[in-house]
Amino acid sequence: MEQIYDVAIIGAGVTGAMLAHKLAKYKLRCAVIEAGCDVASGATRANSAIVHAGFDAANGTLKAALNAKGCAQMPELAHQLDVPYKNNTSLVVAFGEEDEQTLNVLLERGRNNGVPGLRIIGKKELHELEPNLSPDATAALLAPTAGIICPYELTMAAAENACINGCEFFFNRRVDAIEAGDVITVRAGEFSLRARYVANCAGVHSDELARMVDPDFPIRLIPRRGEYMILDKAEGKTASATLFMVPSKAGKGILVSPTVDGNLLVGPNAHEVSCKDDTSTTAPGLDEISAGARRLVPSVNLRAVITSFSGVRPTPTTDDFHIQPSVKAKNFLNLVGIESPGLASSPAVADYAVDMLVSMGLELEKKDNYNPYRTENGHMRKPFRELSDAEKAELCKREPAYGKIICRCETITEGDILAAIHRPLGAKTIDMVKLRTRAGMGRCQGGFCSPRVAELLSRELNVPLDAITKRGCGSKLLYGKTK
Ligand SMILES: Cc1cc2nc3c(=O)[nH]c(=O)nc-3n(C[C@H](O)[C@H](O)[C@H](O)COP(=O)(O)OP(=O)(O)OC[C@H]3O[C@@H](n4cnc5c(N)ncnc54)[C@H](O)[C@@H]3O)c2cc1C
Repeated sequence: MEQIYDVAIIGAGVTGAMLAHKLAKYKLRCAVIEAGCDVASGATRANSAIVHAGFDAANGTLKAALNAKGCAQMPELAHQLDVPYKNNTSLVVAFGEEDEQTLNVLLERGRNNGVPGLRIIGKKELHELEPNLSPDATAALLAPTAGIICPYELTMAAAENACINGCEFFFNRRVDAIEAGDVITVRAGEFSLRARYVANCAGVHSDELARMVDPDFPIRLIPRRGEYMILDKAEGKTASATLFMVPSKAGKGILVSPTVDGNLLVGPNAHEVSCKDDTSTTAPGLDEISAGARRLVPSVNLRAVITSFSGVRPTPTTDDFHIQPSVKAKNFLNLVGIESPGLASSPAVADYAVDMLVSMGLELEKKDNYNPYRTENGHMRKPFRELSDAEKAELCKREPAYGKIICRCETITEGDILAAIHRPLGAKTIDMVKLRTRAGMGRCQGGFCSPRVAELLSRELNVPLDAITKRGCGSKLLYGKTK
């Protein structure tokens, strides 16, 4: 007999995964349908990774309400789901009087948004906190609750928690038709699924999905690309807080920030692009962010760049998050325009969406056997590189695969990679291993370890080596033998 899900979620970015995680507490049959081969296939994979404190959004907007709440939940949630998170604070840096006036506006706005601890600091304190800052910096807005997190790790953790609590995930399914009714049918090519409620969390494509249900859905998402560069870990201490420029109409501007894994991140710029999935980087774009980073930190060592990437913002014509049922289908919930601070807000966005689903008629009954962690057995085992020497020796003795280093830049062992392949929603491609373990994220960017990772995937998944891809369909590494 055909199964009818209680809730189907379209999109496994941080919004969809967090919603699945929040719904996992209840006796519901849930499914997540994702176009990509992995979670975090959209904006969630490529952003600034900042847990914004919440002073940016205009007072009274949904963004403003959910940002501060999401930021407040993040430390506890990250701990529970074993996601690296650091409360490194943020500084909006002023260069002169005009900027300083804007700091006052941000301070007032932040206080109205419920952001705790905000204060403006003068030049002396600023330069004591951040000695590498430009000597031209005159003051800053200090946000003590801001932090940094790994966005795809957060998403993966939320999805894994939902998975071990019974949520089903369908990857490589791009939804192309939705039939509304008391039970909604969601189609992706040959695949179809029926659900009593559907949540549209499709990121930059969510407006198109909304229009599959209501052709008159008014909000349009303008794709606005942001480019970045990542610097080697040797440069990770260039800044300790996240350093922002004073925001302009184009957005929060170029920042310089440590990442939670110890690298330095510079970027993003903000340019409209014609294709919603255009995540290329350009020479002029990288020059632009280099110049912005140098303005903040003149000594930033841009010769230490190890990679560049870009992400596409789903900028809504309404300039706010839209989390509302479709006017044409009362059981179809749109989460549209979840642009920045969508990552920081994600736990609160998910809570808001759960409340909205309840107001639409979904009944919630708590599960008796809910597991709040990321694995069946509680907290995850630490990666090999984070263990003490004694712990490493003991682990290698027990499980010799941990004695074989595969990624030398990041000290990732065969044991780490096997664990990433065999855990819930485990890795099937080179990039899935990379996101789960950091193999290939170091100085050589996978030059040495990618062939070994491909061999391990082939062996463990029992598929031919030339079937292993970088990131799923259309990204083959090997086309056959040369001899
Ligand atoms: C340059 C940049 C910088 C940012 N910096 C920050 C920051 O520092 N802090 C912060 O809080 N926020 C930041 N953001 C915003 C944040 O990244 C997003 O708000 C957040 O990732 C949105 O998550 P999402 O799940 O809604 O969308 P996405 O991550 O885009 O996920 C949507 C998912 O839906 C899938 N999908 C799309 N269409 C379909 C379909 N038809 N069928 C099935 N699946 C589909 C996609 O493959 C994708 O996986 C930034 C964004 C960008 C682009």
